[in-house]
Amino acid sequence: MASEKHFKYVILGGGVAAGYAAREFDKQGVKPGELAIISKEAVAPYERPALSKAYLFPQNPARLPGFHVCVGSGGERLLPEWYSEKGIELILSTEIVKADLASKTLTSATGVTFTYEILLIATGSTVINLSDFGTPGADSNNILYLREIDDADKLVAAIQAKKGGKAVVIGGGYIGLELSAVLKLNDIDVTMVFPEPWCMPRLFTADIAAFYEAYYANKGVKIVKGTLAVGFDANANGDVTAVKLKDGRVLEADIVVVGVGARPLTALFKGQVAEEKGGIKTDAFFETSVPGVYAIGDVATFPMKMYNELRRVEHVDHSRKSAEQAVKAIKGKESGESVPEYEYLPYFYSRSFDLSWQFYGDNVGETILFGDSDPTSAKPKFGSYWIKDGKVFGAFLEGGSPDENKAIAKVAKTQPPVANLEELKKEGLQFASKI
Ligand SMILES: Cc1cc2nc3c(=O)[nH]c(=O)nc-3n(C[C@H](O)[C@H](O)[C@H](O)COP(=O)(O)OP(=O)(O)OC[C@H]3O[C@@H](n4cnc5c(N)ncnc54)[C@H](O)[C@@H]3O)c2cc1C
Repeated sequence: MASEKHFKYVILGGGVAAGYAAREFDKQGVKPGELAIISKEAVAPYERPALSKAYLFPQNPARLPGFHVCVGSGGERLLPEWYSEKGIELILSTEIVKADLASKTLTSATGVTFTYEILLIATGSTVINLSDFGTPGADSNNILYLREIDDADKLVAAIQAKKGGKAVVIGGGYIGLELSAVLKLNDIDVTMVFPEPWCMPRLFTADIAAFYEAYYANKGVKIVKGTLAVGFDANANGDVTAVKLKDGRVLEADIVVVGVGARPLTALFKGQVAEEKGGIKTDAFFETSVPGVYAIGDVATFPMKMYNELRRVEHVDHSRKSAEQAVKAIKGKESGESVPEYEYLPYFYSRSFDLSWQFYGDNVGETILFGDSDPTSAKPKFGSYWIKDGKVFGAFLEGGSPDENKAIAKVAKTQPPVANLEELKKEGLQFASKI
Protein backbone atom coordinates (compact mmCIF):
# COMPACT_ATOMS: atom_id res chain seq x y z
CA MET A 1 0.00 0.00 0.00
CA ALA A 2 1.27 3.49 -0.83
CA SER A 3 2.37 5.37 2.29
CA GLU A 4 1.50 8.84 3.52
CA LYS A 5 3.70 11.24 5.47
CA HIS A 6 2.86 14.52 7.14
CA PHE A 7 5.11 17.49 7.91
CA LYS A 8 4.38 20.96 9.19
CA TYR A 9 6.70 22.47 6.56
CA VAL A 10 7.63 20.94 3.21
CA ILE A 11 10.22 22.36 0.83
CA LEU A 12 9.65 20.94 -2.64
CA GLY A 13 13.01 20.84 -4.46
CA GLY A 14 16.46 20.25 -3.04
CA GLY A 15 18.63 22.91 -4.66
CA VAL A 16 20.14 26.19 -3.56
CA ALA A 17 16.96 27.81 -2.26
CA ALA A 18 15.99 24.65 -0.35
CA GLY A 19 19.34 24.46 1.42
CA TYR A 20 19.35 28.12 2.46
CA ALA A 21 15.72 27.81 3.59
CA ALA A 22 16.64 24.83 5.78
CA ARG A 23 19.45 26.82 7.40
CA GLU A 24 17.09 29.72 8.06
CA PHE A 25 14.45 27.39 9.53
CA ASP A 26 17.11 26.07 11.89
CA LYS A 27 18.15 29.63 12.85
CA GLN A 28 14.56 30.65 13.50
CA GLY A 29 13.79 27.42 15.37
CA VAL A 30 12.22 24.27 14.02
CA LYS A 31 11.38 21.13 15.99
CA PRO A 32 12.65 17.69 14.92
CA GLY A 33 10.21 16.12 12.48
CA GLU A 34 8.57 19.39 11.46
CA LEU A 35 10.50 20.08 8.26
CA ALA A 36 11.14 17.95 5.16
CA ILE A 37 12.95 18.63 1.90
CA ILE A 38 11.75 16.52 -1.03
CA SER A 39 14.15 16.37 -3.96
CA LYS A 40 14.48 14.36 -7.11
CA GLU A 41 18.24 14.68 -6.84
CA ALA A 42 20.13 11.98 -4.94
CA VAL A 43 22.27 14.39 -2.89
CA ALA A 44 21.75 17.07 -0.24
CA PRO A 45 21.48 20.71 -1.45
CA TYR A 46 24.66 22.05 -3.02
CA GLU A 47 25.94 25.24 -4.64
CA ARG A 48 24.80 24.67 -8.23
CA PRO A 49 27.14 27.26 -9.86
CA ALA A 50 30.12 24.97 -9.08
CA LEU A 51 28.90 22.54 -11.76
CA SER A 52 29.96 24.72 -14.69
CA LYS A 53 33.20 25.82 -13.01
CA ALA A 54 35.41 23.93 -10.53
CA TYR A 55 33.49 20.64 -10.97
CA LEU A 56 34.89 20.36 -14.50
CA PHE A 57 38.48 21.45 -13.82
CA PRO A 58 41.09 19.04 -15.20
CA GLN A 59 43.08 19.26 -11.94
CA ASN A 60 41.70 19.09 -8.40
CA PRO A 61 38.06 19.32 -9.46
CA ALA A 62 35.45 20.22 -6.84
CA ARG A 63 33.47 17.22 -5.62
CA LEU A 64 30.79 16.70 -2.99
CA PRO A 65 30.74 16.98 -0.06
CA GLY A 66 33.03 19.97 -0.76
CA PHE A 67 30.36 22.33 -2.12
CA HIS A 68 27.19 21.63 -0.22
CA VAL A 69 25.31 24.80 0.73
CA CYS A 70 26.06 27.24 2.31
CA VAL A 71 29.78 27.42 1.42
CA GLY A 72 29.13 29.55 -1.66
CA SER A 73 28.27 32.55 0.49
CA GLY A 74 30.95 31.84 3.10
CA GLY A 75 28.57 30.00 5.43
CA GLU A 76 28.59 26.66 7.21
CA ARG A 77 28.66 23.57 4.95
CA LEU A 78 25.49 21.57 5.56
CA LEU A 79 26.40 17.90 5.22
CA PRO A 80 23.67 15.23 5.16
CA GLU A 81 24.43 14.62 8.88
CA TRP A 82 23.50 18.24 9.65
CA TYR A 83 19.93 17.59 8.50
CA SER A 84 19.62 14.35 10.49
CA GLU A 85 21.07 15.98 13.64
CA LYS A 86 18.47 18.74 13.36
CA GLY A 87 15.63 16.29 12.71
CA ILE A 88 15.10 17.75 9.21
CA GLU A 89 14.06 15.00 6.87
CA LEU A 90 15.93 14.88 3.55
CA ILE A 91 13.75 12.86 1.21
CA LEU A 92 16.06 12.35 -1.79
CA SER A 93 15.69 10.63 -5.19
CA THR A 94 11.98 11.41 -4.93
CA GLU A 95 10.20 13.17 -7.75
CA ILE A 96 6.87 14.79 -7.06
CA VAL A 97 4.57 14.24 -10.02
CA LYS A 98 1.34 15.71 -8.65
CA ALA A 99 0.59 18.66 -6.41
CA ASP A 100 -2.88 19.42 -5.08
CA LEU A 101 -2.76 22.73 -3.27
CA ALA A 102 -6.43 22.52 -2.21
CA SER A 103 -5.89 19.32 -0.21
CA LYS A 104 -2.26 20.26 0.64
CA THR A 105 -0.99 17.00 -0.83
CA LEU A 106 2.03 16.10 -2.95
CA THR A 107 2.33 12.72 -4.66
CA SER A 108 5.62 11.11 -5.66
CA ALA A 109 6.36 9.06 -8.79
CA THR A 110 6.22 5.92 -6.64
CA GLY A 111 2.84 6.84 -5.17
CA VAL A 112 3.93 8.15 -1.74
CA THR A 113 1.81 11.09 -0.58
CA PHE A 114 3.07 13.97 1.53
CA THR A 115 0.78 16.38 3.32
CA TYR A 116 1.83 19.72 4.78
CA GLU A 117 0.62 22.88 6.47
CA ILE A 118 3.10 25.21 4.77
CA LEU A 119 4.68 24.55 1.36
CA LEU A 120 7.77 26.20 -0.12
CA ILE A 121 8.02 25.63 -3.87
CA ALA A 122 11.73 25.55 -4.75
CA THR A 123 11.71 23.49 -7.94
CA GLY A 124 14.10 25.79 -9.82
CA SER A 125 14.47 25.54 -13.58
CA THR A 126 15.04 22.93 -16.22
CA VAL A 127 17.12 23.30 -19.36
CA ILE A 128 15.56 24.07 -22.71
CA ASN A 129 16.20 20.94 -24.77
CA LEU A 130 16.79 21.05 -28.53
CA SER A 131 14.65 17.90 -28.87
CA ASP A 132 11.71 20.09 -27.76
CA PHE A 133 12.10 22.01 -31.05
CA GLY A 134 12.37 18.79 -33.06
CA THR A 135 15.93 19.58 -34.19
CA PRO A 136 16.93 16.51 -36.26
CA GLY A 137 19.52 14.34 -34.55
CA ALA A 138 19.13 16.15 -31.20
CA ASP A 139 18.77 12.81 -29.39
CA SER A 140 22.23 11.58 -30.49
CA ASN A 141 24.71 10.44 -27.83
CA ASN A 142 27.09 13.04 -26.38
CA ILE A 143 24.72 15.95 -26.91
CA LEU A 144 24.76 17.14 -23.32
CA TYR A 145 23.04 19.68 -21.08
CA LEU A 146 23.93 20.95 -17.64
CA ARG A 147 21.60 21.53 -14.72
CA GLU A 148 22.15 18.88 -12.07
CA ILE A 149 25.08 16.91 -10.74
CA ASP A 150 24.12 13.85 -12.82
CA ASP A 151 24.43 16.00 -15.96
CA ALA A 152 27.85 17.24 -14.80
CA ASP A 153 28.99 13.63 -14.29
CA LYS A 154 27.98 12.80 -17.87
CA LEU A 155 30.01 15.77 -19.06
CA VAL A 156 33.04 14.65 -17.02
CA ALA A 157 32.75 11.15 -18.56
CA ALA A 158 32.50 12.61 -22.09
CA ILE A 159 35.52 14.87 -21.51
CA GLN A 160 37.52 11.85 -20.36
CA ALA A 161 36.34 9.64 -23.23
CA LYS A 162 37.02 12.27 -25.91
CA LYS A 163 40.41 13.63 -24.74
CA GLY A 164 41.88 15.88 -27.41
CA GLY A 165 38.59 15.76 -29.34
CA LYS A 166 36.28 18.45 -30.63
CA ALA A 167 33.40 20.11 -28.82
CA VAL A 168 30.74 22.43 -30.15
CA VAL A 169 29.09 24.59 -27.51
CA ILE A 170 25.68 25.86 -28.52
CA GLY A 171 24.66 29.09 -26.81
CA GLY A 172 26.56 32.24 -25.89
CA GLY A 173 25.19 32.92 -22.41
CA TYR A 174 26.64 32.13 -18.98
CA ILE A 175 26.62 28.38 -19.48
CA GLY A 176 28.08 28.59 -23.00
CA LEU A 177 30.89 30.90 -21.91
CA GLU A 178 31.77 29.02 -18.72
CA LEU A 179 31.65 25.60 -20.37
CA SER A 180 33.68 26.68 -23.41
CA ALA A 181 36.42 27.88 -21.07
CA VAL A 182 36.47 24.75 -18.96
CA LEU A 183 36.37 22.41 -21.99
CA LYS A 184 39.35 24.31 -23.40
CA LEU A 185 41.19 23.86 -20.09
CA ASN A 186 40.57 20.14 -20.57
CA ASP A 187 42.45 20.29 -23.87
CA ILE A 188 39.38 19.97 -26.04
CA ASP A 189 39.10 21.90 -29.30
CA VAL A 190 36.10 24.22 -28.73
CA THR A 191 33.80 26.09 -31.10
CA MET A 192 31.00 28.22 -29.69
CA VAL A 193 27.91 28.86 -31.82
CA PHE A 194 25.18 31.39 -31.08
CA PRO A 195 22.69 33.38 -33.16
CA GLU A 196 23.14 36.81 -31.60
CA PRO A 197 25.67 39.43 -32.79
CA TRP A 198 27.68 39.07 -29.56
CA CYS A 199 27.87 36.86 -26.46
CA MET A 200 25.67 37.39 -23.36
CA PRO A 201 23.51 39.95 -25.16
CA ARG A 202 21.01 40.07 -22.28
CA LEU A 203 23.65 41.78 -20.13
CA PHE A 204 26.80 42.58 -22.08
CA THR A 205 27.12 45.66 -24.25
CA ALA A 206 28.93 45.20 -27.58
CA ASP A 207 32.08 46.68 -25.94
CA ILE A 208 32.03 44.30 -22.99
CA ALA A 209 31.37 41.30 -25.25
CA ALA A 210 34.20 42.30 -27.59
CA PHE A 211 36.66 41.91 -24.70
CA TYR A 212 35.46 38.40 -23.75
CA GLU A 213 35.26 37.20 -27.34
CA ALA A 214 38.82 38.37 -28.07
CA TYR A 215 40.09 36.91 -24.79
CA TYR A 216 38.48 33.55 -25.63
CA ALA A 217 39.86 33.67 -29.19
CA ASN A 218 43.36 34.22 -27.76
CA LYS A 219 42.85 31.10 -25.65
CA GLY A 220 42.00 29.18 -28.84
CA VAL A 221 38.20 29.08 -28.54
CA LYS A 222 36.57 29.55 -31.95
CA ILE A 223 33.39 31.62 -32.05
CA VAL A 224 30.72 31.36 -34.76
CA LYS A 225 28.09 34.11 -34.40
CA GLY A 226 24.85 34.94 -36.11
CA THR A 227 23.75 31.40 -36.91
CA LEU A 228 21.95 28.43 -35.36
CA ALA A 229 22.39 24.69 -35.06
CA VAL A 230 19.66 23.14 -37.22
CA GLY A 231 20.64 19.46 -37.07
CA PHE A 232 23.17 16.87 -35.98
CA ASP A 233 24.85 13.92 -37.72
CA ALA A 234 25.58 10.73 -35.83
CA ASN A 235 27.54 7.53 -36.57
CA ALA A 236 26.21 3.96 -36.53
CA ASN A 237 26.51 3.87 -32.71
CA GLY A 238 24.32 6.93 -32.42
CA ASP A 239 27.23 9.15 -31.29
CA VAL A 240 27.13 12.71 -32.54
CA THR A 241 29.74 13.45 -35.24
CA ALA A 242 28.77 16.88 -36.58
CA VAL A 243 26.63 19.95 -36.06
CA LYS A 244 24.84 21.41 -39.06
CA LEU A 245 24.43 25.18 -39.02
CA LYS A 246 21.71 27.24 -40.63
CA ASP A 247 24.25 29.13 -42.73
CA GLY A 248 25.25 25.82 -44.35
CA ARG A 249 28.45 25.20 -42.43
CA VAL A 250 29.05 21.82 -40.81
CA LEU A 251 31.21 21.57 -37.66
CA GLU A 252 32.78 18.27 -36.63
CA ALA A 253 31.97 17.33 -33.04
CA ASP A 254 32.72 14.54 -30.55
CA ILE A 255 30.82 16.37 -27.83
CA VAL A 256 28.04 18.95 -28.11
CA VAL A 257 27.07 20.99 -25.09
CA VAL A 258 23.83 22.92 -25.27
CA GLY A 259 23.21 25.98 -23.11
CA VAL A 260 20.29 27.77 -24.71
CA GLY A 261 18.42 28.76 -21.59
CA ALA A 262 16.24 27.48 -18.81
CA ARG A 263 12.54 27.31 -18.02
CA PRO A 264 11.11 27.57 -14.48
CA LEU A 265 9.53 24.33 -13.24
CA THR A 266 6.00 25.47 -12.47
CA ALA A 267 3.93 22.89 -14.39
CA LEU A 268 2.85 21.00 -11.23
CA PHE A 269 0.96 24.09 -10.07
CA LYS A 270 -0.65 25.22 -13.34
CA GLY A 271 -4.14 26.56 -12.78
CA GLN A 272 -3.79 26.35 -8.98
CA VAL A 273 -1.79 29.49 -8.31
CA ALA A 274 -1.40 32.93 -9.93
CA GLU A 275 1.44 33.20 -12.42
CA GLU A 276 3.26 36.17 -13.89
CA LYS A 277 6.15 36.56 -16.32
CA GLY A 278 6.58 32.79 -16.59
CA GLY A 279 6.92 32.28 -12.85
CA ILE A 280 4.75 31.88 -9.76
CA LYS A 281 3.58 35.28 -8.59
CA THR A 282 4.47 36.18 -5.02
CA ASP A 283 4.31 39.13 -2.66
CA ALA A 284 7.35 40.73 -1.02
CA PHE A 285 7.44 37.80 1.45
CA PHE A 286 7.36 35.16 -1.33
CA GLU A 287 3.85 34.01 -0.41
CA THR A 288 1.83 33.06 -3.50
CA SER A 289 -1.85 33.67 -4.26
CA VAL A 290 -2.56 30.53 -2.18
CA PRO A 291 -2.15 31.27 1.55
CA GLY A 292 0.54 29.13 3.17
CA VAL A 293 2.19 28.35 -0.18
CA TYR A 294 5.48 30.13 -0.87
CA ALA A 295 7.64 30.17 -4.03
CA ILE A 296 11.38 30.89 -3.80
CA GLY A 297 14.41 30.97 -6.10
CA ASP A 298 14.13 30.67 -9.88
CA VAL A 299 10.37 29.98 -9.90
CA ALA A 300 9.27 33.16 -8.09
CA THR A 301 8.08 36.31 -9.83
CA PHE A 302 8.28 38.87 -7.03
CA PRO A 303 8.00 42.64 -6.56
CA MET A 304 11.44 44.12 -7.21
CA LYS A 305 10.98 47.17 -5.02
CA MET A 306 13.92 49.13 -6.40
CA TYR A 307 12.48 49.17 -9.91
CA ASN A 308 8.82 49.04 -8.94
CA GLU A 309 8.24 46.02 -11.14
CA LEU A 310 7.48 42.31 -10.88
CA ARG A 311 10.50 40.27 -11.92
CA ARG A 312 11.83 36.73 -11.97
CA VAL A 313 15.54 36.21 -11.35
CA GLU A 314 17.53 33.07 -12.24
CA HIS A 315 20.61 33.74 -10.12
CA VAL A 316 22.05 32.14 -7.06
CA ASP A 317 22.21 35.25 -4.85
CA HIS A 318 18.47 35.78 -5.18
CA SER A 319 17.71 32.09 -4.62
CA ARG A 320 19.56 32.29 -1.28
CA LYS A 321 18.04 35.57 -0.18
CA SER A 322 14.48 34.76 -1.26
CA ALA A 323 14.68 31.52 0.73
CA GLU A 324 15.77 33.38 3.86
CA GLN A 325 13.09 36.02 3.38
CA ALA A 326 10.30 33.43 2.99
CA VAL A 327 11.32 31.52 6.12
CA LYS A 328 11.60 34.74 8.15
CA ALA A 329 8.10 35.68 6.95
CA ILE A 330 6.67 32.24 7.82
CA LYS A 331 8.17 32.33 11.30
CA GLY A 332 7.25 36.01 11.71
CA LYS A 333 3.60 35.20 11.01
CA GLU A 334 3.68 32.51 13.67
CA SER A 335 5.25 34.73 16.31
CA GLY A 336 3.36 37.88 15.32
CA GLU A 337 6.58 39.74 14.50
CA SER A 338 6.60 41.82 11.35
CA VAL A 339 9.25 41.27 8.71
CA PRO A 340 10.40 44.02 6.33
CA GLU A 341 9.58 43.67 2.64
CA TYR A 342 12.19 42.05 0.35
CA GLU A 343 14.72 44.65 -0.81
CA TYR A 344 16.77 43.14 -3.55
CA LEU A 345 19.61 44.64 -5.52
CA PRO A 346 20.19 42.39 -8.57
CA TYR A 347 23.63 40.80 -8.46
CA PHE A 348 25.05 38.49 -11.13
CA TYR A 349 28.57 37.13 -11.54
CA SER A 350 30.58 34.72 -13.59
CA ARG A 351 34.08 33.27 -13.66
CA SER A 352 36.06 31.62 -16.46
CA PHE A 353 39.75 31.19 -17.27
CA ASP A 354 41.47 33.89 -15.12
CA LEU A 355 38.51 36.21 -15.49
CA SER A 356 35.88 37.18 -12.96
CA TRP A 357 33.14 39.77 -13.30
CA GLN A 358 30.34 41.12 -11.16
CA PHE A 359 27.29 43.14 -12.11
CA TYR A 360 24.88 45.01 -9.83
CA GLY A 361 21.64 46.82 -10.56
CA ASP A 362 19.73 47.21 -13.79
CA ASN A 363 21.24 47.25 -17.29
CA VAL A 364 19.07 50.03 -18.71
CA GLY A 365 19.81 53.33 -20.43
CA GLU A 366 23.04 54.64 -21.94
CA THR A 367 26.37 52.99 -21.18
CA ILE A 368 29.96 54.06 -20.83
CA LEU A 369 33.00 51.80 -20.73
CA PHE A 370 36.00 52.60 -18.55
CA GLY A 371 39.39 51.09 -17.65
CA ASP A 372 41.70 48.68 -19.43
CA SER A 373 39.68 46.36 -21.65
CA ASP A 374 42.61 45.22 -23.77
CA PRO A 375 42.24 41.42 -23.89
CA THR A 376 46.01 41.02 -24.21
CA SER A 377 46.77 43.00 -21.01
CA ALA A 378 48.46 41.03 -18.24
CA LYS A 379 45.66 41.99 -15.83
CA PRO A 380 42.74 43.58 -17.60
CA LYS A 381 40.45 45.62 -15.35
CA PHE A 382 37.50 47.45 -16.82
CA GLY A 383 33.87 48.20 -16.25
CA SER A 384 30.71 49.82 -17.44
CA TYR A 385 28.04 52.03 -15.97
CA TRP A 386 24.45 52.14 -17.18
CA ILE A 387 22.89 55.61 -16.89
CA LYS A 388 19.19 56.42 -17.03
CA ASP A 389 17.40 59.66 -16.13
CA GLY A 390 20.78 61.19 -15.18
CA LYS A 391 21.48 58.47 -12.58
CA VAL A 392 23.64 55.35 -12.53
CA PHE A 393 21.37 52.30 -12.58
CA GLY A 394 23.84 49.49 -13.20
CA ALA A 395 27.54 48.80 -12.77
CA PHE A 396 29.76 46.04 -14.17
CA LEU A 397 33.36 45.30 -13.25
CA GLU A 398 35.84 42.75 -14.59
CA GLY A 399 38.84 41.92 -12.43
CA GLY A 400 37.73 43.94 -9.39
CA SER A 401 39.01 43.42 -5.84
CA PRO A 402 36.43 42.66 -3.11
CA ASP A 403 36.46 46.35 -2.08
CA GLU A 404 36.04 47.55 -5.66
CA ASN A 405 33.15 45.16 -6.18
CA LYS A 406 31.56 46.52 -3.00
CA ALA A 407 31.98 50.01 -4.38
CA ILE A 408 30.15 49.26 -7.64
CA ALA A 409 27.39 47.53 -5.67
CA LYS A 410 26.97 50.72 -3.66
CA VAL A 411 26.72 52.78 -6.85
CA ALA A 412 23.95 50.55 -8.20
CA LYS A 413 22.11 50.72 -4.88
CA THR A 414 22.37 54.46 -4.28
CA GLN A 415 21.97 55.51 -7.95
CA PRO A 416 24.11 58.68 -7.74
CA PRO A 417 23.46 61.47 -10.26
CA VAL A 418 25.76 61.92 -13.25
CA ALA A 419 26.21 65.33 -14.82
CA ASN A 420 28.63 64.49 -17.58
CA LEU A 421 29.16 61.12 -19.24
CA GLU A 422 32.63 62.06 -20.52
CA GLU A 423 33.70 62.90 -16.95
CA LEU A 424 32.23 59.62 -15.70
CA LYS A 425 34.17 57.68 -18.31
CA LYS A 426 37.39 59.45 -17.28
CA GLU A 427 36.76 58.86 -13.59
CA GLY A 428 35.84 55.20 -14.11
CA LEU A 429 36.22 53.18 -10.94
CA GLN A 430 37.22 56.33 -9.00
CA PHE A 431 33.61 57.47 -9.31
CA ALA A 432 32.45 54.35 -7.46
CA SER A 433 35.19 54.52 -4.85
CA LYS A 434 34.05 58.05 -3.84
CA ILE A 435 30.43 57.06 -3.16
C1 LIG B 1 25.51 24.98 -14.30
C2 LIG B 1 24.94 26.21 -13.66
C3 LIG B 1 25.79 27.25 -13.32
C4 LIG B 1 25.27 28.40 -12.71
N1 LIG B 1 26.13 29.40 -12.38
C5 LIG B 1 25.65 30.53 -11.81
C6 LIG B 1 26.51 31.60 -11.46
O1 LIG B 1 27.72 31.54 -11.71
N2 LIG B 1 25.98 32.70 -10.86
C7 LIG B 1 24.65 32.79 -10.59
O2 LIG B 1 24.22 33.82 -10.06
N3 LIG B 1 23.80 31.79 -10.91
C8 LIG B 1 24.25 30.66 -11.51
N4 LIG B 1 23.41 29.65 -11.84
C9 LIG B 1 21.97 29.79 -11.51
C10 LIG B 1 21.68 29.30 -10.09
O3 LIG B 1 22.35 28.09 -9.86
C11 LIG B 1 20.18 29.15 -9.91
O4 LIG B 1 19.60 30.42 -10.04
C12 LIG B 1 19.84 28.55 -8.53
O5 LIG B 1 20.36 27.24 -8.41
C13 LIG B 1 18.34 28.53 -8.33
O6 LIG B 1 18.05 27.92 -7.11
P1 LIG B 1 16.68 27.12 -6.91
O7 LIG B 1 16.75 26.50 -5.56
O8 LIG B 1 15.55 27.97 -7.29
O9 LIG B 1 16.73 25.96 -8.01
P2 LIG B 1 17.73 24.74 -8.13
O10 LIG B 1 19.01 25.01 -7.44
O11 LIG B 1 17.76 24.37 -9.57
O12 LIG B 1 17.00 23.56 -7.34
C14 LIG B 1 15.78 22.98 -7.75
C15 LIG B 1 15.67 21.61 -7.15
O13 LIG B 1 14.34 21.14 -7.27
C16 LIG B 1 14.37 19.77 -7.68
N5 LIG B 1 13.08 19.46 -8.32
C17 LIG B 1 12.54 20.08 -9.39
N6 LIG B 1 11.33 19.54 -9.67
C18 LIG B 1 11.11 18.58 -8.75
C19 LIG B 1 10.04 17.66 -8.52
N7 LIG B 1 8.96 17.65 -9.29
N8 LIG B 1 10.16 16.78 -7.49
C20 LIG B 1 11.27 16.81 -6.69
N9 LIG B 1 12.29 17.66 -6.86
C21 LIG B 1 12.22 18.53 -7.88
C22 LIG B 1 15.57 19.72 -8.60
O14 LIG B 1 15.99 18.40 -8.79
C23 LIG B 1 16.57 20.57 -7.80
O15 LIG B 1 17.16 19.80 -6.79
C24 LIG B 1 23.88 28.49 -12.46
C25 LIG B 1 23.03 27.45 -12.83
C26 LIG B 1 23.55 26.32 -13.42
C27 LIG B 1 22.62 25.19 -13.84
